[in-house]
Amino acid sequence: MVNRIKQLEKLSRALEPNAEERALFLAKVVHYANSFLENINHVPAYRATTDEGIGLYDSPISEEPIGIDTALNLIKQNVDRPGVNVGSGGYLCFIPGSGLYHSALADYIAAVTNRYAGVYFASPGAVRMERMLLRWIADFIGYPESAAGDLTSGGSIANIIGIVTARDAHDLKAKNFERSVVYLTKQAHHSIEKALRIAGLKECIRRFIPLDEHYRMKAEALEQAILNDKKSGLNPWLIVAAAGTVDTGAVDPLDSIVDISKAYQLWLHVDGAYGGAFTLCDMGKKILKGIERSDSMIIDPHKGLFLPFGTGAVLVKDGEKLRQAHYYEASYLQDTEKLASSDEISPAELSPELSRHFRGLRLWLPLKLIGVAPFRAALKEKLLLARYFYEKMQNIDGFELGPYPDLSIVTYRYIPKRGDVNKFNQQLNHAVQKDGRIFLSSTMIDGKFTLRLAVLGFRTHLDRIDQAIEILQEKVKEIEVLK
Ligand SMILES: *Cc1c(COP(=O)(O)O)cnc(C)c1O
Repeated sequence: MVNRIKQLEKLSRALEPNAEERALFLAKVVHYANSFLENINHVPAYRATTDEGIGLYDSPISEEPIGIDTALNLIKQNVDRPGVNVGSGGYLCFIPGSGLYHSALADYIAAVTNRYAGVYFASPGAVRMERMLLRWIADFIGYPESAAGDLTSGGSIANIIGIVTARDAHDLKAKNFERSVVYLTKQAHHSIEKALRIAGLKECIRRFIPLDEHYRMKAEALEQAILNDKKSGLNPWLIVAAAGTVDTGAVDPLDSIVDISKAYQLWLHVDGAYGGAFTLCDMGKKILKGIERSDSMIIDPHKGLFLPFGTGAVLVKDGEKLRQAHYYEASYLQDTEKLASSDEISPAELSPELSRHFRGLRLWLPLKLIGVAPFRAALKEKLLLARYFYEKMQNIDGFELGPYPDLSIVTYRYIPKRGDVNKFNQQLNHAVQKDGRIFLSSTMIDGKFTLRLAVLGFRTHLDRIDQAIEILQEKVKEIEVLK
């Protein structure tokens, strides 16, 4: 038996590279990362390839190692080449991501040190760091000391946590689901519907409140709907408002909606996955006024705070409600209570997760190394860039603009002199994507094929917006000549 164990040990020791191997791996990885970053603004914002990464399958997972050069080359050819280049300043579609380099360094440390961030006694420092960051977010949102929250993997999970908390805070029971009503608009993110389903609330009635000409929820219509439902003996319990919709960046009239939620005692959850971070700058704070009076809200640091994908956040104003929906008890965790002197609450008591990535570090390190001021500046810059684009485009013949932007998304389309408008804009969208220098996306609004420009990447500056305007005009001309 000892011999067998020793044989296995010999092989299993490969799991721990020695100092020389570590230095080699690190140098190669750093070289790879540097060449990626040096090219990020030069490679296309979108690259279609015929192989679409299929080369990965030619190198199946096997008993034998392949070496770092081959591995990095597989990543380069198959993962980093095809598809969208999210970090490019020309990525102006969907909701852009960015990928702060400082966060990558933090992820490296977090993975090497592997602090156990789920439970306070296991890593009080990691838990305190996350608490501090959530407090920082709560402060700029305007939530009081009573608030508690969780750093999640993203906005969809954060929405689930918010909705589950609302469900339990209202003591909603299965037998009442069919007569309980949720108020939202057709512009709500699809993750809300998904969260309701996952939270077991499929049977709840959805009331889609009409939109005004800015695609914001009509507050009067909301109040009327609640009154009607109350009259019919139904149980209105949840309002989901948007602090920045994906289609148009519209912000629902939060102040009026809060007043209604308070008057009729409904829970108000605000989806600020895209827009919440704008409250960091003075201009955004005004636009999102009222968010601080909601019951729960989410924000996606991997959007508005420029982190690499993998970090969302949820905050609940009455933190105890969050805990009541997520606490745990387990006898094999009994030691964890006795070992900690402080009564700091563990993330595992505030979320569905137990073991988790030490996410706090990827937000903390950039804030420490850069300071908050450049984040505020970048967010205000994005708001102004969207306004700049709107005003320029308004003066270009043939373009029809959507509503003036609430945040950093502008919708528009080209009205050709002849022919089908939707078809023309489909062609225009396709031509811009094929060109690849910038990447825009489209949506359907009121049956109209609509183009949208979304500014949120930290690498997107004035020159890119000017370039987008030029490319759009150039492609319009090319399509018109063909007609
Ligand atoms: C992105 C987004 C979500 C979903 O967040 P993920 O981080 O992608 O899971 C929800 N709501 C809005 C408004 C969003 O923009």
